[in-house]
Amino acid sequence: MSLKNPIDFYRTLPRKTCPECGEQMEEQAESYFMECERCLAKKGE
Ligand SMILES: [Zn+2]
Repeated sequence: MSLKNPIDFYRTLPRKTCPECGEQMEEQAESYFMECERCLAKKGE
């Protein structure tokens, strides 16, 4: 068996960076926002 570990696949993905503050974010499948949660909260006000 030579199945690739899915965790290794995710590790090779480039980290998403918030264009607002430059914070590195964990990529979430359900998240399609560009900014991090903090900047999104600021914009929401
Ligand atoms: Zn941000």
